[in-house]
Amino acid sequence: MSGDGAGLLTAPTEYRRINRQIIGEAPGPTLILVGGIHGNEPSGVIAARRVLDRLTAEEIPVRGEIVAINGNLKALNGKQRYLDRDLNRQWSERRVESVMAGNVAGGLDAEDHELKEIWEQIRAAVDRARGEIYFIDMHTSSADGAPFLTVGDTLRNRAFAMEVGLPLILGLEEQVDGALLEFMNNRGYVTLGIEAGQHDCPKSIDHHEAVLWRALGTSGAIERSRTPEPERWIDVLKKASASTPKVIEVRRRHAITSEDDFRMRPGYRNFQPVAKKEHLGDDRRGQVRAVESGMILLPLYQGQGNDGFFLCREFSRLWLVVSTYLRRLKLEGLMHWLPGVSQHPEFERTLVVNTRVARFYPLEVFHLFGYRKRRKKGDLLVVSRRRYDRPVSA
Ligand SMILES: [Zn+2]
Repeated sequence: MSGDGAGLLTAPTEYRRINRQIIGEAPGPTLILVGGIHGNEPSGVIAARRVLDRLTAEEIPVRGEIVAINGNLKALNGKQRYLDRDLNRQWSERRVESVMAGNVAGGLDAEDHELKEIWEQIRAAVDRARGEIYFIDMHTSSADGAPFLTVGDTLRNRAFAMEVGLPLILGLEEQVDGALLEFMNNRGYVTLGIEAGQHDCPKSIDHHEAVLWRALGTSGAIERSRTPEPERWIDVLKKASASTPKVIEVRRRHAITSEDDFRMRPGYRNFQPVAKKEHLGDDRRGQVRAVESGMILLPLYQGQGNDGFFLCREFSRLWLVVSTYLRRLKLEGLMHWLPGVSQHPEFERTLVVNTRVARFYPLEVFHLFGYRKRRKKGDLLVVSRRRYDRPVSA
């Protein structure tokens, strides 16, 4: 059970940058685990501790390296999401480059210092790598509900996440800018995000722990047969997600700023069905209603944050299989032959869609090929696809 976990969520703990680290004698994958990039989410920090301490105590051999890095130290120590700005919205190439160079107007703020240290540790781990690099980012949410995995929609991320055994959410990372998971994904690593449940619920730690054990075996960081209590982790994840569809895609994000004064109506849980036009919350302009039917995800019940809620729908297993084959055939190279679609003049893997013309076929066709990131400019829709959308060559 999670006796220590419940205590640690409330007890004062001094967090250090490197939570735990094991470097194995034999070469193998590098697993970089990040917990607490949001300071009010210590669950992942505690779970990583449990797993790495158990590996050490039971002398389970590790191949490659497992390094658990703590995210926003000052916010973790202060038990708040962030100090000056959300640390999980700062990871753009430009921002990271200028922070690392100390070239930020007005000087570095609290989260810039955190970013700098985290990035130094990640880079060092990447330099030490003797195999494939896996990046795992651990979160919890203010709303109650079943745990799930978020992955950038590439074939190898999907394959890794499906092995772990929790519902898979496609397209969540693409909806927000500057998430660390996306930043790492764009560097070609296999990435996995975990939303383990409610912030202060001891079960969230169990969910994080179970996913980590599954990930260790799947990546080859430990021999699968050396996983302690293997049935237990499968069972924890199965029970937690019994009533949730297996694959879900995010369709809408209700973005907010602090000026909006957004208040979510009480009682919503992750994956709760909502009807079109359902009254979900209020802001200074009046009622906020669902623009389409589906399921609600990550409704905001805390003061800080820029995501009011997300709307999503089940993604059928059939589409998943179809899209895998289409991508393997690399048919996305033919997408610009569709009416109203052209290759972006500057950017690779990016298409410009004239929605006046393209309205004659469903825009979901772009999702099939992994074009999820969307920006709209008048009648033009710019969609882009992930780099490294290929299976890992084993
Ligand atoms: Zn978070």
